[in-house]
Amino acid sequence: MDRGVVLSAPGAVALEEILVDEPEPGEVAVRIEASGVCHTDLHVVEEHGWGHPLPVLLGHEGAGTVETVGAEVEHVVPGDRVVLGWHTACGECAMCVHGLPRQCKRPPAATGRLHRSDGAVLSPVLRTGTFATRTVVPATAAVKVPAGLPTEQACLLGCAVATGVMSVLETARVPEGASVAVIGCGAVGLSVVQGARLAGASEIRAIDVDERKQEQALRFGATVTGAGLVDFAFDVVGRQATFELALELLRGGGTAVLIGLSPGGEKAEVDLPRLFAKRARVLTSHGGDHLPQQDFPRLAEWALEGKLDLAGMVSRRIELDDAQRALEELRSSPDLIRSVIVL
Ligand SMILES: [Zn+2]
Ligand SMILES: [Zn+2]
Repeated sequence: MDRGVVLSAPGAVALEEILVDEPEPGEVAVRIEASGVCHTDLHVVEEHGWGHPLPVLLGHEGAGTVETVGAEVEHVVPGDRVVLGWHTACGECAMCVHGLPRQCKRPPAATGRLHRSDGAVLSPVLRTGTFATRTVVPATAAVKVPAGLPTEQACLLGCAVATGVMSVLETARVPEGASVAVIGCGAVGLSVVQGARLAGASEIRAIDVDERKQEQALRFGATVTGAGLVDFAFDVVGRQATFELALELLRGGGTAVLIGLSPGGEKAEVDLPRLFAKRARVLTSHGGDHLPQQDFPRLAEWALEGKLDLAGMVSRRIELDDAQRALEELRSSPDLIRSVIVL
């Protein structure tokens, strides 16, 4: 019997029996072995599905083992350990055709393969649905994990690490020697810090309302805590105060990057003459514009080489039954970096 954590109605989250179909052509079925508990899942619950039709299968930062593959799948076989990616490309939309797969407008989905016990179709969060014993995804979403990288660390590549590191390397393309501020030092923020370190930033400022989190960031490569002027300011939180702070911290010619998901209706005030005088740039980062098939292998390689600290980001291991509580604790336990469900 398969189980999954389902948002069935606004505010109603429960672990329940689910039904998992065989993969169709171009799809793979994956036995989930580890799944990080990301803020986006809490956002999905708080925003009543956040665009996913209810009922929703939660979870989108997972890794596991390929169990079965549909026809036309060549790059993975049953038994391969994989990390699942949600920021995939279709290869056919206008952006993909114009050589911009990182901006794909129609990431592929394996629609209709997952059901509640009454047969109702489940919408997996971000086309993955990893708070479950098994899921079905488009094959392009499954990326092989090198031997030697534990599954509970590999799963973090699927969202937090790809989002944070690639926001620096891909979205903002921070050059060597630049100064960087990171506002919000959870799992994604610490990944921005690590990305800035990989990019060779000269100064990395960690900023968080919780001082413990600021201090923690020093272990991941931050060089100083608290506000100060920088070339690049990353808002990992996505609230009025944090976005306005990001603009405030910019030196002339600086770039603010919005990463955090804002609640519906959130607005910020911008001093336009000041923005103009500074020649500031504002970028949005959708998951760091990462591409799973291209980026996960190099992120995994950096982890194995010790350039990217994944082990330090796994704060605790929990069971699938604890997923709901872990989601609630995202609000109240700020010193936790990542709870990882291990199956
Ligand atoms: Zn596309
Ligand atoms: Zn996430």
